[in-house]
Amino acid sequence: MPEVEVTRRSLGPLISGARISAVRLGKPLRWPLGCTAESLVGQVIGDASRRGKYLWLPLERGGLLLHLGMSGSLHFAPRAAPPGAHDHFDLVTDRGTLRLTDPRRFGAVVFSPGLAEGPAAKLLAGLGMEPFDPAFDGKYLHAALRSRRGPIKPALLMGDIVVGAGNIYACEALFAAGIDPRARASSLSRPRCARLADAIRETLARAVALGGTTLRDFRDAHGTAGAFQNEVRVYGRAGRPCLVCGTAVRRIVQGQRASFLCPRCQRR
Ligand SMILES: [Zn+2]
Repeated sequence: MPEVEVTRRSLGPLISGARISAVRLGKPLRWPLGCTAESLVGQVIGDASRRGKYLWLPLERGGLLLHLGMSGSLHFAPRAAPPGAHDHFDLVTDRGTLRLTDPRRFGAVVFSPGLAEGPAAKLLAGLGMEPFDPAFDGKYLHAALRSRRGPIKPALLMGDIVVGAGNIYACEALFAAGIDPRARASSLSRPRCARLADAIRETLARAVALGGTTLRDFRDAHGTAGAFQNEVRVYGRAGRPCLVCGTAVRRIVQGQRASFLCPRCQRR
């Protein structure tokens, strides 16, 4: 999610108020656009907002819901180069071109009549709370985790309790909170849930401030790579000493995803 928030912040000011003059579609993305390209032409783009990993570009009639998928990035240029093999959506405006580059094509641009209706309502249903929502705290997390079976880390990745805590951020937040990713979600005490909620919010805020994480392709709307990957404390550091206690960081697999932990600093 930090990557999407970074995109929103870098992109929003560039396209707010721009008028669409043409739409170019490349190869099919994860979902179809759901309207004709012509119906978008002439409309003015409003202020971009974000919900989970989705970006919402409101138009005068409806709006576009964008998802970056696994490898997508949005780039804005006053004068766009001819589209390359991985450029699958161009929104040409009177200020420049917004382009979705997505080598793996898991991303999507979907038209919806509104954020709370049509395809947007369907895609956003079941999303958990925003981590920057003041209501996201230990009390909320404790209540939400009580009915969960299984360990805490996969519960965070589900995205139906809190959005945005993807694999790297979940690993880092659990380390910061001193919680073993294998700890049973339902048995975490209220104080530990409070520490975890704080750690999730702080980890994501730090990641946004650093421009997100660039492991492969991510760039913000200006083409700048993120730097959070340089600040990770456990993620991807298996076998290397914990930065707090010196114990070797361990890699385990939970639900087919790699988890990294310090066996000493993090408790069940
Ligand atoms: Zn440690």
